[in-house]
Amino acid sequence: MESAATPLEDVQARIAHAAGIAGRKPQDVTLVAISKTHPAKRIVPLLEAGQRVFGENRVQEAQEKWPALKERFGKERYDDLELHLVGQLQSNKADDAVELFDCIHSLDRPSLVKALAKAMEKAGKRVPLFVQVNIGAEEQKGGCAIADLPGLLQQARDADLPVIGLMCVPPLDIEPAPFFALLAKLAADNGLAPEEGGKLSMGMSGDFETAIMLGATHVRVGSALFGARE
Ligand SMILES: *Cc1c(COP(=O)(O)O)cnc(C)c1O
Repeated sequence: MESAATPLEDVQARIAHAAGIAGRKPQDVTLVAISKTHPAKRIVPLLEAGQRVFGENRVQEAQEKWPALKERFGKERYDDLELHLVGQLQSNKADDAVELFDCIHSLDRPSLVKALAKAMEKAGKRVPLFVQVNIGAEEQKGGCAIADLPGLLQQARDADLPVIGLMCVPPLDIEPAPFFALLAKLAADNGLAPEEGGKLSMGMSGDFETAIMLGATHVRVGSALFGARE
């Protein structure tokens, strides 16, 4: 009897399908498994199934969970294990974030450019960064305003930060495609088009296929892999 696909296999198949429709290779899309709120025992089965890239949205929660998991699954056995920060980052946590994470998706303001530049210098470690754009111009949301993007990118480049692409979280309850298309256009306008090696972090459980068809290179998927968060 054939066993039913696991949520991980299901998401991987959906990524491959969407990439195929867009004429892209599935391996050009990185699945970032968002494990926020889930305990280590829920994360281990994914690690054992071969998932290697994970994301958390809080520095402190990641500090509590991941050192032990990295100890067990990192280094010699799984040297390709990556931990990404996808949530807002306070400047006073920049040192901790640079130490623990392999990629940060939420650079969104000049003070954080300064803090991250200092932290990376101090740690002697360069952590790839996405600049988060407040793509729907929402009051309470993280991300830099669209109008501020060129200036912020310039500041980050002047500080020699390794900016690899753009990230967004579109507004809830509205068709996300136009926002994904806008992020892709902003990337192209700022020398970060995928054809030039730029990356696009966009798409979550409800919309990652749409995001892939519009150029996402990193999809951040939580509930479709882990079930609903408590
Ligand atoms: C929680 C979160 C996700 C994953 O959301 P799901 O809808 O559970 O897939 C993606 N990106 C960010 C920034 C998040 O905070």
